[in-house]
Amino acid sequence: MKVGVIGGTGFYEMRGDEIEVETPYGAVILFYLDEGDREIFFLPRHGKKHVPAHMVNYRANIAAMKKAGVGAIVAINTVGSMRREFEIGSFFIPDDFIDFTCRKSTFFDKEAVHIDMSQPFCPIVRKILIEEAMKKGKVNEGVYVVTEGPRLETKAEINMLKNFAHVVGMTLSPEVILAREAGICYASICIISNYAAGMQEKLDVEEIRRVYEERKGDLMDVVKEALKKIPENRNCGCKYAAERGKL
Ligand SMILES: [Zn+2]
Repeated sequence: MKVGVIGGTGFYEMRGDEIEVETPYGAVILFYLDEGDREIFFLPRHGKKHVPAHMVNYRANIAAMKKAGVGAIVAINTVGSMRREFEIGSFFIPDDFIDFTCRKSTFFDKEAVHIDMSQPFCPIVRKILIEEAMKKGKVNEGVYVVTEGPRLETKAEINMLKNFAHVVGMTLSPEVILAREAGICYASICIISNYAAGMQEKLDVEEIRRVYEERKGDLMDVVKEALKKIPENRNCGCKYAAERGKL
């Protein structure tokens, strides 16, 4: 069974055989690892040259995963907390999202396909991630608001956003949307690396990196165990999202 991992900034731990996959949106580098009954395709989201979040070629990334035959993706994201009780360094597993980006977020430019987003994440992969993450510490759940970046948010923006969401980041969307359109089960595990603007004295990129480095080992264990537990046959319906969304 083929599964995928999309790693964020600093997560380049799953290097295998490098393969280049051509897609209509550009070529993508994947790393292939053969782990017995699991074939893992690891995709560093930001590519080899580490392009910033707003410049990531999300359509090419998901199209490459699809072409490789990946049926389920575990995505790794780093987020800022808008809740005092969600501690820095803890895991966050989103159950919904709000998209404030202005990125190209569909594969369907030539036909009307309106996919159902009332459950944007695969419930099966999510549940497995939660169970595995809980073995390594506190797990928070909630809404991830996606901002365009690359700048961080203002205090006023956070004051508004925290009424509707729990964490803020730049990379979940359009990845989650495109995976759904592609019929790939998708769930995300995030590390809370800081409090959002106005909730701590200043936002320091070095601090974000340090927190991530500290939790990277645990994160790796969670992802590896979760990949082993994703069942081959899933009754989640993610596979048929696009089919059901066709006019
Ligand atoms: Zn699914």
